[in-house]
Amino acid sequence: MLALPIAHDIALQQFNTFGIPARARRYLRVEDPAQLAQLAADPALAALPRLVLGGGSNLLITHDEVDLLVLHMALAGKEIVGETPDAILVRAQAGENWHGFVQWTLEQGLGGLENLSLIPGTVGASPIQNIGAYGAETKDLFHSLTAFDFAGGTTRTMDAAACRFAYRDSIFKHEEGRQLAVLDVTFALPRAWAPNLRYAELARELEGIAEPTPRQVADAVIAVRRRKLPDPAEIGNAGSFFKNPVVSSEHCAQLLQSWPNLVHHLQPDGSEKLAAGWLIDQCGWKGKALGRAGVYPKQALVLVNNGGASGAEVLALARAIQADVQARFGVLLEPEPVMV
Ligand SMILES: Cc1cc2nc3c(=O)[nH]c(=O)nc-3n(C[C@H](O)[C@H](O)[C@H](O)COP(=O)(O)OP(=O)(O)OC[C@H]3O[C@@H](n4cnc5c(N)ncnc54)[C@H](O)[C@@H]3O)c2cc1C
Repeated sequence: MLALPIAHDIALQQFNTFGIPARARRYLRVEDPAQLAQLAADPALAALPRLVLGGGSNLLITHDEVDLLVLHMALAGKEIVGETPDAILVRAQAGENWHGFVQWTLEQGLGGLENLSLIPGTVGASPIQNIGAYGAETKDLFHSLTAFDFAGGTTRTMDAAACRFAYRDSIFKHEEGRQLAVLDVTFALPRAWAPNLRYAELARELEGIAEPTPRQVADAVIAVRRRKLPDPAEIGNAGSFFKNPVVSSEHCAQLLQSWPNLVHHLQPDGSEKLAAGWLIDQCGWKGKALGRAGVYPKQALVLVNNGGASGAEVLALARAIQADVQARFGVLLEPEPVMV
């Protein structure tokens, strides 16, 4: 068997959308699942701490040197694999670009994923934080996935229950799931499609179109996102930097007394979800900078690399924002990107 082509001292700047100029001590571009099996079977390699890397769009690298074995998932391919009475099953390999995959499903005449258009990153990462936008989440269309388990060196199929999806969360972000690398994901796209226009901004974008097609909904999502979010190719960022915090109804009622304009959304369990961007904006951070890291002027939830920022600078900005929001509202903002 050929030795795995592990490279050393590899620049990661173009592999993370924040554009942090870090380097990886060890790096393997994974083009075949057999490489992972080979790695798991080698005791010295299997013992190394790992980072499974997709598009690097939900990642903050906080060290100049990443002392991990970076496994860059480049598995490619997408196909229609079957059907059920209600749905068509489509599968894509982990390294496929997410937006490219969504556009491909639309070209096949299949609706369902259009609200998730233009989210950066790979298909393999879509279940990790149960990506969501404009009233839709991975879990809504998810059928199953194949994962490689480094602990046993085996491959397993997981359904939605096994993935334990929640708001920007899944088993893969917890101890029990950290030994798993997603190899491919299968989605069940409905035969009976109806537009999901729960999001007022999306509905407004489609005003005047009585019965929008999946393509028209995707185009509307793309237009809204382009207006609101910075393009990582132009300005480094990882999208929303904080999750929207969930507080008790009592805490929310208390906050409303001082802040009648507080943005809040009642959750099915009676708790309230607050808008992290609104909280940050109230603390005066929108458009501000700390060193070379800053807060995007059009959206306070997005932290940006204003040019040459280190991961430590972005982290310092995030901590300053957390401290201000905590002091003013008694709410701890939890970062969305994974930190390494
Ligand atoms: C401009 C912008 C807008 C964004 N908008 C949204 C949005 O609307 N909604 C949203 O939910 N997110 C959004 N994001 C965040 C990001 O796009 C998603 O989280 C995306 O799924 C990350 O994919 P990735 O391949 O880049 O993952 P990476 O950043 O490479 O990895 C993220 C995490 O997933 C793990 N991982 C990656 N691939 C695998 C795999 N195959 N198996 C196991 N673990 C894996 C990594 O180890 C890491 O822990 C946005 C980001 C940007 C830059």
